[in-house]
Amino acid sequence: MAKKYVYFFGNKKAEGKGDMKDLLGGKGAGLAEMTNLGIPVPSGFTITTEACNAFFKAGKKHPSGMWKQVENDLKKVEKDMGMKFGDSKNPLLLSVRSGAKFSMPGMMDTVLNLGLNDVTLQAIINKTNNKRFGYDAYRRFITMFANIVMGVDRMKFENVLEVMKEQKGVANDTDLTAEDLEKLSEQFKKIYKKELKKDFPQDPYEQLKMAINAVFGSWFGERAYKYRTLNGISHDLGTACNVQTMVFGNMGNTSGTGVAFTRNPSTGEKKFFGEFLLNAQGEDVVAGIRTPVPVSRLQKKLPKCYDQLVKIYKKLEKHYKDMLDIEFTIQEGTLYMLQTRVGKRTASAALRIAVNMVKEKLIDKKIAVQRIDPAQLDQLLHLMIDPKAKVEKIAKGLPASPGAAVGTVIFTADEAEAAAEKNEKVILVRTETSPDDIGGMYAAQGILTARGGMTSHAAVVARGMGKCCVAGCGAITINDEKKIFTVGDLTIKEGDYITLNGTTGDVILGEAKLVKPKLTGDFDQIMIWVDQYRKLGVRANADTPHDAKVALGFGAEGIGLCRTEHMFFEESRIKAVREMILSNSIEGRQKALKKLLPMQKSDFIGILKEMKGLPVTIRLLDPPLHEFLPHTDEDIKALSKSMEVPVDKLRAKNASLHEFNPMLGHRGCRLGVTYPEIYEMQARAIMEAACELTKKKIKVIPEIMIPLVGHVNELKQMREVVERVAKETIAKYKTKVNYTIGTMIELPRAAITADEIAPFADFYSFGTNDLTQTTYGLSRDDAGTFLPTYVEKGVLEDDPFVTIDQKGVGVLMKMAIEKGRSVKKKMKMGICGEHGGEPRSVVFCHQVGLNYVSCSPYRIPIAKLAAAQANLAGTGGKDLSKSTV
Ligand code: ADP
Ligand code: MG
Ligand code: MG
Repeated sequence: MAKKYVYFFGNKKAEGKGDMKDLLGGKGAGLAEMTNLGIPVPSGFTITTEACNAFFKAGKKHPSGMWKQVENDLKKVEKDMGMKFGDSKNPLLLSVRSGAKFSMPGMMDTVLNLGLNDVTLQAIINKTNNKRFGYDAYRRFITMFANIVMGVDRMKFENVLEVMKEQKGVANDTDLTAEDLEKLSEQFKKIYKKELKKDFPQDPYEQLKMAINAVFGSWFGERAYKYRTLNGISHDLGTACNVQTMVFGNMGNTSGTGVAFTRNPSTGEKKFFGEFLLNAQGEDVVAGIRTPVPVSRLQKKLPKCYDQLVKIYKKLEKHYKDMLDIEFTIQEGTLYMLQTRVGKRTASAALRIAVNMVKEKLIDKKIAVQRIDPAQLDQLLHLMIDPKAKVEKIAKGLPASPGAAVGTVIFTADEAEAAAEKNEKVILVRTETSPDDIGGMYAAQGILTARGGMTSHAAVVARGMGKCCVAGCGAITINDEKKIFTVGDLTIKEGDYITLNGTTGDVILGEAKLVKPKLTGDFDQIMIWVDQYRKLGVRANADTPHDAKVALGFGAEGIGLCRTEHMFFEESRIKAVREMILSNSIEGRQKALKKLLPMQKSDFIGILKEMKGLPVTIRLLDPPLHEFLPHTDEDIKALSKSMEVPVDKLRAKNASLHEFNPMLGHRGCRLGVTYPEIYEMQARAIMEAACELTKKKIKVIPEIMIPLVGHVNELKQMREVVERVAKETIAKYKTKVNYTIGTMIELPRAAITADEIAPFADFYSFGTNDLTQTTYGLSRDDAGTFLPTYVEKGVLEDDPFVTIDQKGVGVLMKMAIEKGRSVKKKMKMGICGEHGGEPRSVVFCHQVGLNYVSCSPYRIPIAKLAAAQANLAGTGGKDLSKSTV
């Protein structure tokens, strides 16, 4: 027996079910489920996604047995409806609708009125005694078939229609007479022949076959393919094809068609929400030919249908236990449902609906938590462009850091800082950014770069600051000298307004209106539930007391990464740092370090105080040296004065520190091994801060972290230094401080030898940015030129700097966790790489047994939600594998 490729639905019974989306597509599954619920659905059948895949496999031929099953089910439909396909008296007309597992733009549009030809048309006219209706349906069908199935430009037909309306002096299609439409139909057939060198197919079965093949064919259409690639949807799913009895919303004023949501999709309010048009076919609502009216008006126009519709939507919502969108058509006072699916909603609507449905006892708290998309939550944490605003997009870059920003264009960090002091709002536009630009980035409303990827300096820093950033916008060309940038032939000058949308990557001309999404009680409620269901701790990456405060506001349970080098970039400090690096003697270094000690100490006091007894992981210095070196001769000259070293000598030293590969060079603990006095100073600053606060009865938990360890002896030596200083300091202050010393696992060798390292580490923190770079042998700063191509071409499914590469980096992590805990059973382990705030990576961290993730303060709610969902996943949770940010 041939495989079953076709599933019938009709007469209150369907062969399929709502949970068969893989096989029947979302639309087909919904039609089957509604049919089984006794909801009126016009009869039809669904050809499966498997048939589509088999079709392609066989070189665009139907799999054996499929067509026979189509013919069979068509007979069932005919019987059900009491009509016959292609009949000269009582002809059945069909719609042919695509429908994949995921609702997807780019798939084939629906063809309505299929089965019409010169003969069946006359039958329809006779039967309905409505010539106008008949010809209206026919001219629509010819247009749709030519356009959607055969790919003829729709305008070829629309233009002729417009000419006709002009000749007749009417504004609407509905004002054309039967005779006008008859004439149009004849003209349309001629256009069809002219464009395709073939007559319009008169055989209904041939029409059907061509339409089905076109639905299948659209699966690999350019737009659909691109959409799937961009959204990480597999190309192997295939689309189903739904063939369904036509019902007519355009048979007069007791007919109509509409779409609705069971609740308001933008606010979540529990109120039926939708639109309809009387005397219209489905395409009219979407095409915006006439303006539809609110669905509530149906109550006056067709009260019986309205009551029935209300009953149906309530039944459906209760059955699906979720907010749905529905499509319906009324034919001469009889209501038919044409589609239902879980409705798309804004982030705030998602929260409201989930909370309300718990109150209504429709779902429980666990399901409510699982309903919220972590990626979507991001919308709520940043400013956004007023959804009602009309904007002019001029270019598109990478959506590097979400939110929106408006300001005047400025091209240097210094000027951005100066402008901010005058309370001007600016957008910093740079080819790319460097650590020197931090001040300007901080001062700007948003950042736009022409080069660099999702993990470029600009992107990483902006995300950390919670600042909107569009990166790698290759379409813009910056001319720093002239203080302009160009996009095509458009020139934007310094001082011109632009708007950035960091959530989509759009660059917009002028000043768009920004709005702040409201964080409502619903958000708080969901987060309370989230905290009940998660095991994984969530900390923040924060370098300053200000960041720490923001992090606490978002519910951070500690700081997982406090980077000390960021503290060095400040104007007043960088000089001392440079002195330290460039001095040739211990004495010189110590002189510089002495200047830095009180500065660092005050930083640590600020942060430790802010965190009120929560753990704070402080990483000792880890700069790729070049980031601190003086760049200009002026800098060197100024330095030579304060260091009392001749310029030439200093210049030579500066040059000697040049590294070919700074990321793999003299950085991290390698710096601590060669110049222990640097780490000594930092340990002292931390411990003095901790002791002073303890004496003031402020609880502190410093965790001192040694970076870039690859060999156990590196840690062993550094631990000795830190421990000695800690003991000295504690003795000096005559107090007690609970401090720990641990290390980052960010080199493959550290992961591989994690059992050897463990005796010298109180904790591990996975630095997955560096671990990804070193596992892949891939420089993050240089990857922007080819990594996107890798993802586009499918070499890599995902950018490993965005989501943890579970099969490579992830395996090293697992190994390190196992080996570390084989020595120290309860060793605390976390992650502090950028991945700590990315939902899929958070799920992974939960699964491998980390104690916490640490992420940018603005991502804390997202990480918490993902952590709760990971924990709930075992109990009927949802598949997060497609969720991205
Ligand atoms: P989409 O995936 O774009 O929602 P649909 O297959 O739902 O496409 O079709 C679009 C519109 O075509 C529907 O809203 C509906 O109004 C109309 N339509 C589809 N099938 C039928 C049918 N059997 N009878 C009447 N109208 C239909
Ligand atoms: Mg639809
Ligand atoms: Mg690192």
